[in-house]
Amino acid sequence: MAATTDTASAEVRDRDDLLVHILWINAGLSCDGDSVALTAATQPSIEDIILGVFPGLPKVEVHWPLLDFHSGPMQGADAMIEWYYLAARGGLDPFVLVVEGSVPNESIKREGYWSGFGNNPDTGQPMTLPEWLDRLAPQATAVVAAGTCATYGGIHAMAGNPTGCMGVADYLGWDWRSKAGLPIVNVPGCPVQPDNMSETLLYLLFQLNGQAPMIPLDEALRPTWLFGQTVHEGCDRAGYYEQGQFAVEYGSPTCLVKIGCWGPVVKCNVPKRGWMNGVGGCPNVGGICIACTMPGFPDKFMPFMDEPPGARFSTTISTVYGGVVRRLRDITVKTVDKEPKWHARGRALLTGYKAPWS
Ligand code: SF4
Ligand code: SF4
Ligand code: SF4
Repeated sequence: MAATTDTASAEVRDRDDLLVHILWINAGLSCDGDSVALTAATQPSIEDIILGVFPGLPKVEVHWPLLDFHSGPMQGADAMIEWYYLAARGGLDPFVLVVEGSVPNESIKREGYWSGFGNNPDTGQPMTLPEWLDRLAPQATAVVAAGTCATYGGIHAMAGNPTGCMGVADYLGWDWRSKAGLPIVNVPGCPVQPDNMSETLLYLLFQLNGQAPMIPLDEALRPTWLFGQTVHEGCDRAGYYEQGQFAVEYGSPTCLVKIGCWGPVVKCNVPKRGWMNGVGGCPNVGGICIACTMPGFPDKFMPFMDEPPGARFSTTISTVYGGVVRRLRDITVKTVDKEPKWHARGRALLTGYKAPWS
């Protein structure tokens, strides 16, 4: 018994001692919107993760262009990038590599480069994102793609795509596994919903500390508990859809499908979770869903603001069915929207109650 307790205590001590580095690289084709979004996370906040307020969480050090405790005004970017060189040499373990922005194809041109981050110590030339991925991915314990650009290419990869850019899984391979056996984790969104990102990082940190099972992902490598439902299923306006009440212009409180909302076929929890701290959530507040979390975004959903294919058929059915249901509900509402008749002054009891002794 004593031996078992000692082993358990040693395990707990090991978990308490674990230090996980998070290396965030936004060297691809990116607007940095996902970095900005993460600063708005509240459940959990990135500060809570860094300060280790959750029992069972390993210690965490974040190396992120927006926040790096080791890079003060005296050292700046030169000190920060040393962590990336160290990780590329295999000197940082374990670390989670977070990629923001799509990965340009640097092989399709003869000179120059599409995007870079620091210089190659050997040549003094700019290090491109593919070069960083080639060096860092094999050393990483987990790789996370943050935002739709990094997950599926996003806006930069739409038809035409002069840089030939793509998502991280397109570059590394959809079957890619980290040295710890983890698949790439995709957290799409343009930008990523802040709590979706912080919660995914939290899950992975618990997993690396032996406190959680393998992260459940769907076929597009999204966390299933975050992307298992459609926008429509969580939309405040879904009742209007069911009742066949559709907006034909902006400013209406009714369902927006006829003016271009793709919510019924889009996997995203933003209407439930809000944009940040529960506030907003595209269709809830009057904006059509343009499917920014989806692998087919944007091409398969354009032109935006047109009625999606199939919507005319489904809204016609809903208009007929919903019209009947609404009239029947109006009758019910008139009945239940009144107090019972016995709520009245007078000497007679109007409830119908009969005392057993009378
Ligand atoms: Fe910016 Fe959107 Fe791309 Fe993120 S996914 S880098 S927010 S364009
Ligand atoms: Fe569904 Fe969009 Fe209508 Fe909301 S606004 S109920 S998501 S179609
Ligand atoms: Fe993007 Fe639609 Fe989700 Fe809004 S509701 S964040 S447009 S997928």
